[in-house]
Amino acid sequence: MQKQIQQQIERIKSAGATYVDTRWYPFDESNFLMMWNGNLKRTAMARESGIGVRVLYKGAWGFCASSDLSDMGGIYDKALDNARAAAEKVTFPVRLAEKDILEARFESPCQINPSDVPLAEKVAFLQEMDEKLNQKGVEQRISYLNFMHKQMIFMDSEGSQIEKLITEVFGEMQVTSKDKQGVSQLRSYRLKRQGDTRGWESIDRQKFSENAERIIQELNAVLVAEDCPKEDRSVILLPGIMYLQTHETIGHALELDRILGYELAFAGGSFVTLEDFGKLRYGSNKLTARANGVLSNSPGSFGYDDDGVAASDNLLIDKGILVGAITGRQMVEEANARARRQIFDGSSGANRATSFYRVPIERMTNINIDPGTDGSLDDIIKQTEKGIILDGDRSWSIGSNREQFHFGTEIGWLVEDGQVTQVVKNPTYKGSTVPFWNSLSAVGDESTWKVEFVDNCGKGQPNQIMQLGHGIPVCRFDQVRIGE
Ligand SMILES: [Zn+2]
Repeated sequence: MQKQIQQQIERIKSAGATYVDTRWYPFDESNFLMMWNGNLKRTAMARESGIGVRVLYKGAWGFCASSDLSDMGGIYDKALDNARAAAEKVTFPVRLAEKDILEARFESPCQINPSDVPLAEKVAFLQEMDEKLNQKGVEQRISYLNFMHKQMIFMDSEGSQIEKLITEVFGEMQVTSKDKQGVSQLRSYRLKRQGDTRGWESIDRQKFSENAERIIQELNAVLVAEDCPKEDRSVILLPGIMYLQTHETIGHALELDRILGYELAFAGGSFVTLEDFGKLRYGSNKLTARANGVLSNSPGSFGYDDDGVAASDNLLIDKGILVGAITGRQMVEEANARARRQIFDGSSGANRATSFYRVPIERMTNINIDPGTDGSLDDIIKQTEKGIILDGDRSWSIGSNREQFHFGTEIGWLVEDGQVTQVVKNPTYKGSTVPFWNSLSAVGDESTWKVEFVDNCGKGQPNQIMQLGHGIPVCRFDQVRIGE
């Protein structure tokens, strides 16, 4: 098969293409199971395979994909035809940043392939969790598992050949009940990064059981709690909401294609301009953020992106100053040309496609915040005069250029004079992205730093769902509007 791909790449190259690549997926398996109040509500299994071919001709992309490999030549011809048609309309001819030519292999760490685990065993796990969640005060209980297992082979006309074997495991449980006003209240727990591998073995019964008890207790506390006050307070964000704050107001805002005006669907603009790099004070000097595609054992780590560039640990915000973006080969060239200066020094290796039949676009890797020097969660609470601790994402809305946001969380704990005083329900907070990050006044140490997984980040038309992680510490922001 590789030989055939090689021959086709050479054939299209000699027909006038400046660049050709191919992603061949021998298999791409997924398995989703959801249990709702003791019933197996949904189980879905899929397996697909095929190739996707990109051709660059006179500065324009052409793409073609198929799961029918009986006419390989036809797939490549179609990709070239599409590029020829696009070349007549191209406004900014595509150029690709230089890259290293690689022969490489990446395998995400996994001991037990979830595809090899019998369905009955997965259902038994969900039943066990469901029984643990079936407690007083809980009206609805949901638990789900989501598995992916795929092999990808990348080859291009520059001579790279990269093989990847990726396994992903996600799990979540939620408990819901109505409060006295009839408002639905929710508490949830998601599987986080722990240990060194992420196969079926990462489904840790003990961890799920402990957290089942905790979320039920917290839900019951929320059900009888008073409403979140409407006022300005310091907000202390735990990883269960800090990840989303980072995702929506750093991650999506720093995708270079969106900064250049592409992929604007799904609140896809960005307030960031090319002039801002190296200058914009994005946050306080306690904020250092990075797109770390080489963090071990996280869904945002994939070895090599779909341009065939090695993933990197890419600094985005250095002590508050914007210095980098989430980039691929095409956009860094266009950004440097438009800015008439060298902002980006090559691709950071973050161009990814969700499947063989989608084109790669710039996607978050692991968008992380470095741990800080303000101690543990307890230390931060002790140093907070009037605050609220927030956790769990319940609702989110974001300005179309990511310049403002409003988040609702599952639970809040008021802090007065360094002490946690009471639980409140329906907590919300809102702000403007840059002033908010500039009000960052405390960043927790390593003990507060957790890696949260995201299995459903959406971007692109047609839509592409992507998996990634966020390594984030507990963070405190001052003078934030809450409760409205
Ligand atoms: Zn997203």
